[in-house]
Amino acid sequence: MELNYKSTRSSQTVTASQAILKGLSEDGGLFVPEYIPKLDVPMEALAQMSYQETAYEVMKLFLTDFTEEELKSCIAGAYDDKFDTKEIAPIHQADDAWFLELFHGATIAFKDMALSILPHLMITAAKKNHVDHEIVILTATSGDTGKAAMAGFADVRGTKIIVFYPKDGVSPVQEKQMVTQKGENTFVVGIHGNFDDAQTGVKKMFNDKALAQQLDDAGYQFSSANSINIGRLVPQIVYYVYAYARLVKAGEIKEGEKINIVVPTGNFGNILAAYYAKNMGLPVAKLICASNENKVLFDFFATGTYNRNRDFIVTSSPSMDILISSNLERLIYKISGEDSDKTRRLMEALSGQGSYEITEEMQAQLADFYGNFATEAETAAAIRSIYEKDGYVIDPHTAVAASVYHKYRSETGDHTKTVIASTASPYKFAGSVMPAIDEKYKGMPDFELIDALRQISGVAEPKAVTELRTAPVRHTTVCDADQMEQTVINWLMGQQLKNK
Ligand SMILES: *Cc1c(COP(=O)(O)O)cnc(C)c1O
Repeated sequence: MELNYKSTRSSQTVTASQAILKGLSEDGGLFVPEYIPKLDVPMEALAQMSYQETAYEVMKLFLTDFTEEELKSCIAGAYDDKFDTKEIAPIHQADDAWFLELFHGATIAFKDMALSILPHLMITAAKKNHVDHEIVILTATSGDTGKAAMAGFADVRGTKIIVFYPKDGVSPVQEKQMVTQKGENTFVVGIHGNFDDAQTGVKKMFNDKALAQQLDDAGYQFSSANSINIGRLVPQIVYYVYAYARLVKAGEIKEGEKINIVVPTGNFGNILAAYYAKNMGLPVAKLICASNENKVLFDFFATGTYNRNRDFIVTSSPSMDILISSNLERLIYKISGEDSDKTRRLMEALSGQGSYEITEEMQAQLADFYGNFATEAETAAAIRSIYEKDGYVIDPHTAVAASVYHKYRSETGDHTKTVIASTASPYKFAGSVMPAIDEKYKGMPDFELIDALRQISGVAEPKAVTELRTAPVRHTTVCDADQMEQTVINWLMGQQLKNK
């Protein structure tokens, strides 16, 4: 059966491939599937499948206008030896939980899970829809998306990619990864502002009709690699199904046994994928939403009021330093009874006053979720204690999740078996990880910390880190948040001259 996508803010519907191409609906809403399909393969079959096979079984249900051949070729092109393990997403048992390691791809953070396949999906979608314009991927990043998107799109014909990141809001390794990006079709811009400024600027460009016309005349069209694109969301459902099936296979859980899932959350994309997996029939009890000190989501789950009017805090888990969690709109839409008028009004209140409040009936539908947060000190303590107990080194984002997991267990007494989404390699954040383990590492230069991390963890240094040691800087553009549009136009027009 054909599965179409509709906007959260109007009655517009499109096919899966069109939703991937557009990224965002013209009315400013996000695309959501008209229904959540049910897993149609028995768990015992899934338990025998590779990551790639699992990906096909999950994604074919959502991307119904892709042929089997197209989808399998996208999957094969994405989940290959860019990942440093055949398992793609291995599971590590520690601290009375399973850490689902989503950081074995090209840029050593979980964004690779979706962004290594998005370019393939997008090129296929463009062919299907007879798009003859060049696709310009416009992305705001809190540190990991931008690099993972560029790694995916670099030198992909028919595409260009522009990435905006907060100049002073990412880790040194993250910044170095971005400014050394190769590929003639890539453009990296630091902005004077935070991630929300970058994301707001990008959304504005997407909604600017005059700009769209100007680009159209020049042979370009925008698309998005941010987690608002359903081409990001759908591949993220896969690893929850895969993790569950692996645990069944290993005899750690019985088929049908419910598990809890903890997700360190920023833009609400990763945890929404877990929610979709649950709605597909995966046996999941609680979805535990872990925030850092930017705890908008914790407050939202506790009170029913979403309020971004607060100070933006720069933490050691920068990819979660977000006050506007874009993907929450999809959940709001769902719990409003799929009411696009209501959703639009709430989102307008968010962009107007910076806050909105949901009704009690809506709040009652959030029972699947539990929200909490970890302070900077708690995050560091989680890194240290798991290292001391199990010799396992986790990154600060994952540590936020581990800390919230402990709060949840002591608050509720619920000891349901639990999977923690482990979203980044500690190598990406050695500057906060190592001092958390031992104060003697405070102030040490980055690459010395990386050497020390290798020694204490016994985990090989990822290729992505080794390459950084010598990679030349290729991108030096910096602008103010209100110059983003002009910066984009200048670069694209310059590129066009170069091509003539
Ligand atoms: C992006 C990111 C997150 C947050 O994921 P969302 O889908 O935005 O909630 C958490 N950890 C890391 C390392 C990330 O890169």
